[in-house]
Amino acid sequence: MPGNRVRVLVLNAALGPLDYRVPHGMEVGPGSIVVVPLGPRQLIGVVWEAERLPAEEVGDNRLRNLIAVADAPPIPAPLRRLVEWTSDYYLAAPASVLRMALASTSALEGAKTTVEYRATGEVPARMTPQREQALERIGERQGLVRELATIADVSDGVIRGLVKTGAIEAVEVDIDSPFAMPDPSFAPPELSTMQADVASVLRQAVGAEQFQPFLLDGVTGSGKTEVYFEAVAAAIAAGRQTLVLLPEIALTEPFLTRFEARFGCDPVAWHSDLRQSQRRRAWRAIASGQALVTVGARSALFLPYRNLGLIVVDEAHETSFKQEEGVHYHARDVAVMRGLFEKCPVVLASATPAIETRHQVELGRYEELKLPGRYGVAELPELKAIDLIRHPPERGRWIAPPLVNQIDATLERGEQVLLFLNRRGYAPLTLCRHCGHRFQCPNCTAWMVEHRLIGRLACHHCGHYMPTPKACPECKEEDMLVACGPGVERIADEAAALWPDAKLAIVTSDTISSPARAAEFVRRMEAGEIDIVVGTQLVTKGYHFPNLTLVGVIDADLGLEGGDLRAAERTFQQIMQVAGRAGRGEKPGKVLIQTHSPQAPVMQALVTGDAESFYAAETEMRRDADAPPFGRYAAIVVSAEEKELAEDVARTIGRAAPEIEDMMVFGPAPAPLAMLRGRHRFRLLVHARRALDVQDVIRDWLGALDWSPKVRVAVDIDPYSF
Ligand code: ADP
Ligand code: ZN
Repeated sequence: MPGNRVRVLVLNAALGPLDYRVPHGMEVGPGSIVVVPLGPRQLIGVVWEAERLPAEEVGDNRLRNLIAVADAPPIPAPLRRLVEWTSDYYLAAPASVLRMALASTSALEGAKTTVEYRATGEVPARMTPQREQALERIGERQGLVRELATIADVSDGVIRGLVKTGAIEAVEVDIDSPFAMPDPSFAPPELSTMQADVASVLRQAVGAEQFQPFLLDGVTGSGKTEVYFEAVAAAIAAGRQTLVLLPEIALTEPFLTRFEARFGCDPVAWHSDLRQSQRRRAWRAIASGQALVTVGARSALFLPYRNLGLIVVDEAHETSFKQEEGVHYHARDVAVMRGLFEKCPVVLASATPAIETRHQVELGRYEELKLPGRYGVAELPELKAIDLIRHPPERGRWIAPPLVNQIDATLERGEQVLLFLNRRGYAPLTLCRHCGHRFQCPNCTAWMVEHRLIGRLACHHCGHYMPTPKACPECKEEDMLVACGPGVERIADEAAALWPDAKLAIVTSDTISSPARAAEFVRRMEAGEIDIVVGTQLVTKGYHFPNLTLVGVIDADLGLEGGDLRAAERTFQQIMQVAGRAGRGEKPGKVLIQTHSPQAPVMQALVTGDAESFYAAETEMRRDADAPPFGRYAAIVVSAEEKELAEDVARTIGRAAPEIEDMMVFGPAPAPLAMLRGRHRFRLLVHARRALDVQDVIRDWLGALDWSPKVRVAVDIDPYSF
């Protein structure tokens, strides 16, 4: 180690890298995770550079010693480069990005064993329906009492009771015990010729061990998952690791089932619901290279894989890959950069790729692999618009007569129906009929949404809630509150009134709050215990129900309101995805789209199936406006609890904007959510030509300014919501 001093990136966003001395006898190298002194405190950090250090910069006698080196694999060089790139590109503190790689520091701490519970196979002397349900649903799973209770959908007491009877036992688990090894030849499918061709390209790319980005562009039900599983199999066989990113945690359950059927065991899961010991075990198995396949939410992107051989981003068009808090980044784009640094292929899979991704294909940067037809006998469903002006629903209702007729016919045939409305709760707005009072969140510029099932009004932005009152808080009149507009609960009420014999299920993040709930929903659908599903975007992807033959889109215009850049594109993607749930088996599917503007280009594209013209027109519009992917935007959001303070700082930033030919600055103006979680927000929108290094400009611009610590300034590069 030259000069036995090292430069350490410590986990403190306010600090840059700091130099330390390596005490005699301590073994550290680039990437080592270390404990360092900082004033009276101890902090975790990572040795960033161990060489090329300017020997004279700090007098050796002022250097403090490293305190310890962690008993953990070092952070590999490609990940250190990714941390630097992410921090440069998204203008985030390197320490904030590094924190994601270390997954806080939970990976380093904690006991070596933990106690979990599992069924023994013994039958309790006294069997109750709840105990029976618990034992049946738990099966061979293992976990904390709380987790088993969630899986079984019973109270903790039921599980504890079963422990007493001996039907469930406690076991000590070694936290570092290895994960099961997926078997690449456990149950390979017979691929169609089309699928086999694509799979062979992907297998070769894995074998080449080179960076290569792909767009796997296949209609819903074409077998994208089966096909990229072949690439995963190739990586496993080569002993290299795979990361599969999924947009939604609720999606993991069907994914895990399919993975197990193909490879004989579960992959390693990574998401925010892991408890500390699971997090530690997964992190260490990933860092050591033992975990061969990891499936995770976007945060899995920054983990220290030892030898990554493949990255898959499934449903790559999903907007939930865009992180909007803390470090603002887009997981799809960072995944491609990670592939570049790791020298491995990256597969973006989607039935409705984003315009940005298609543009990369046009530029020749990504290779497109197409699966144009559904697998097997399944045909793509027929899409039709229902003109709500010509066929209005009855007063106070939302399901129009043509859709009612189709639901009648579908239920008659014993098939299943999905009604899609991307709005949780009963009604998006509650007002007083007597005085006109509207219920607004005290912390946000947002209406309180009625959730009738739990008797609450809730804010969907900050989580604030209150019991639904009987009287208006303004005029004190009782029973004058009215619900305005529909949410899924209200559509479910309407369906229950129209088809009293049909079995209904509501699927939203409120009802499917855990993988266990998702699994239960799948089971009930497959067993035919549900006739009509009413759901939000949570039901639009991942699921495969062969008996689901009719999809009704309640309000296709919903996403077009507000008119942001991606509104039409997003509407198209969302409706194509939900349409993709219909007719996945032998029976053909039908999709009815309720809209007030059946002539709008996006509705026409959906109905005629001419996605290409739609995308071409959208792309031209973006080109004319120099909008992404041609020009680019950045948002600077200034927030504070005091409105004047936030506005003042936003104005100061606006006045200091550099005059550059390739850049325009709009605002400051109140941000789209002018108040969020009690903070007032003002926004400046920066529009820049591609050629401009807008990050550099913003770095200099903001770097020269100062503001009160009560003010937060967040920069969002390539923002989504504006
Ligand atoms: P996508 O991800 O493109 O929507 P999936 O991979 O989910 O498509 O495939 C749709 C359905 O067809 C799934 O039930 C899948 O198991 C089945 N399937 C696809 N390809 C094959 C194959 N080669 N052999 C057997 N089943 C297949
Ligand atoms: Zn709120």
